[in-house]
Amino acid sequence: MKIDQLLSQSDFSHADLVNLLACNDADMLLLLEKGKKIKQEYVSNKVFLRGLVELSNTCVKNCLYCGIRCENTKIQRYFLNDDEVLEAVRFALDHNFPSLVLQSGERTDTAFVNRITLLLEKIRKYSNTPIGITLSMGEQSEEVYRRWFDAGANRYLLRIEATNPNLYKKIHPTDTLHDYQKRINSLYLLKKLGYQTGTGVMIGLPFQTLDDLAQDLLFFKKIDIDMVGMGPYVEHPDTPLFQHQAQLLSKEDRMNLSLKMIAILRIMMKDINIAAATALQSLDDLGREKALNAGANVIMPNLTPEKYREGYKLYENKPSTHEEAHDTTTALENRILSTGDTIAYGEQGDSKHFIEKKKIL
Ligand code: SAH
Ligand code: SF4
Repeated sequence: MKIDQLLSQSDFSHADLVNLLACNDADMLLLLEKGKKIKQEYVSNKVFLRGLVELSNTCVKNCLYCGIRCENTKIQRYFLNDDEVLEAVRFALDHNFPSLVLQSGERTDTAFVNRITLLLEKIRKYSNTPIGITLSMGEQSEEVYRRWFDAGANRYLLRIEATNPNLYKKIHPTDTLHDYQKRINSLYLLKKLGYQTGTGVMIGLPFQTLDDLAQDLLFFKKIDIDMVGMGPYVEHPDTPLFQHQAQLLSKEDRMNLSLKMIAILRIMMKDINIAAATALQSLDDLGREKALNAGANVIMPNLTPEKYREGYKLYENKPSTHEEAHDTTTALENRILSTGDTIAYGEQGDSKHFIEKKKIL
């Protein structure tokens, strides 16, 4: 099928998706253009900012791709103290983007769960302005998800990483801690509890095919997700998956495939929030701007204090400068303005898809 014909549709079959993902450079430009156009039409050109706080790199899991997996003994483990977190909250408020993402390695012990609960309550009390709080802390029990929701978190990001169970198995250890079905169930739990729920995948993983990526897109639609954060897989030398480095797509191809994924998803799910993932920037300095031009509408400036940045290297070449936290926002603003978009200052930036769904219920 010709690209014009494909792009005149807003629902795609699996075969259509594979064709779009495989399209040549000229067709890709048309695809990205369409992604941007749909974004402007349905969620406007206002980009939501979320201050990203990488709270702790301690993790009980051992994902084969991740630089902070528990068996990586080369890194020093850290946990921000509450004041450091509140400083990031202050920063986001002072710069008029009342929205945060708190991310960390996965822990399910009581001390951790309580600490997060108290921290959420503290943040809520600290600010007179209501703040959107996204958590990204992996798989937890229903009770814990509920406690955190009640304490003030209203969004949760849990990437499925790869929706093909066989691929999931290849990139995770085979044990009960890394269970595909449990991760899927967690997403349904989050939705049920009332979180704005986000998921995503890594793009350009070893063993991954275009069929897999097409399936990923259909999965986002099937579970009616509110937000998506997906970006390129970037290898890390101190991880088991690094041994497959020779079979990876080039960085440029991984970048292009990520942009295609974003544009297609925007066409399929017009009013969701789609993040321009940080990993895009580690492959290409202009990666996030390119994602905005393909249909993404969320950027997460990193507010983690600089001294911890080295410790949160999930992948190689992860940007570690403090550019966005202090020289800020002018640099970031200029980057965003260069795409023709503007910044949605003063807004928490809820997913329009989520808001519309709630109206119907
Ligand atoms: N522990 C939580 C949140 C922190 S990890 C969780 O796993 O859900 C956040 C995301 O980093 C993961 O979902 C994964 O998609 C991404 N990530 C980890 N290693 C990566 C790599 N090598 N390349 C690209 N993304 C990676
Ligand atoms: Fe831990 Fe998340 Fe990294 Fe897996 S991806 S090792 S759960 S931080």
